[in-house]
Amino acid sequence: MKKIFIFLGPPGSGKGTQTSKLADKLSIPHIDTGSLLRKNIQDNTPLGVVAKGFIDKGQLVPLSVVSSVIEDRIRKEDCAQGYILDGFPRSVEQAQELEKILDRIGTFNLKNDAVAIYFDIDNEILIQRLINRRSCPKCGTIYNLLSNPPKIMDYCDICDTKLTLRADDNEQTARARFETYEKETAPLEEYYKQLGILKELEADKSISEIWDNLKKVVFED
Ligand SMILES: [Zn+2]
Repeated sequence: MKKIFIFLGPPGSGKGTQTSKLADKLSIPHIDTGSLLRKNIQDNTPLGVVAKGFIDKGQLVPLSVVSSVIEDRIRKEDCAQGYILDGFPRSVEQAQELEKILDRIGTFNLKNDAVAIYFDIDNEILIQRLINRRSCPKCGTIYNLLSNPPKIMDYCDICDTKLTLRADDNEQTARARFETYEKETAPLEEYYKQLGILKELEADKSISEIWDNLKKVVFED
C-alpha cells in the first residue's frame, strides 16, 4: 500500500470528510495545511511567528515558509508509517517543493510511495450546492435548499430565525473561487498524471459511495 496520500479537489467536493475517514482507518495523520499553519501561529512557533508577520501585513505566506512548516510536520515520529496531505501541494511549484522535502527526509519516494487522489466533480454542481446553502445566524444550523431544506422555507427549524446566505456563498464569489482553484490545480493534476501517480475519484456521489471507491484506490495497489 502507498504511504503518502495527496488529496486534491475543490472546496466543497467532500474531500475533508473522506480525508478524516481515511486517516482514522489507517491510523495515520491527516495534515491539513491551513490548520497546521494556524496551529503554528497559535503556538507561537518560530515558523508561526514568521507566517503571522506576512498575514498581518495582508500578504500570502510564502512557499518557503509553508514548505518548512510541512517539512517540520512530516519529520515527526507519527508520520513514519505514512500520512495524508490536504491543501498542499496546490500547484506544480508546490509539488516540486514537496519532492525536495521528500528527498531531504529520505524515507519515502514520491513515485513509489505516493498517490494523488483527485476528487472529480463538476464545478456547476459545487456552485449550486454553495449558493443553496443557508445558515441560521442565531444557532448556526446549516441547511441546503436542495438537499436539506428547512421545514418552513427560509426559517430555522430549531429556533425559527430567518436564514441567511453567507456573503462569500453568492454565485459570483463562488465562480471566482472555483476559477482560481482550477487555474492552479489543473496543471498539478496533469503533472501527477505524467508521473503516473494520479487517481481520479468520482465525487458527485454519496459519502458512503465515495468512501467505497476511495478504499478501492487505497487498498488495491
Ligand atoms: Zn436556528
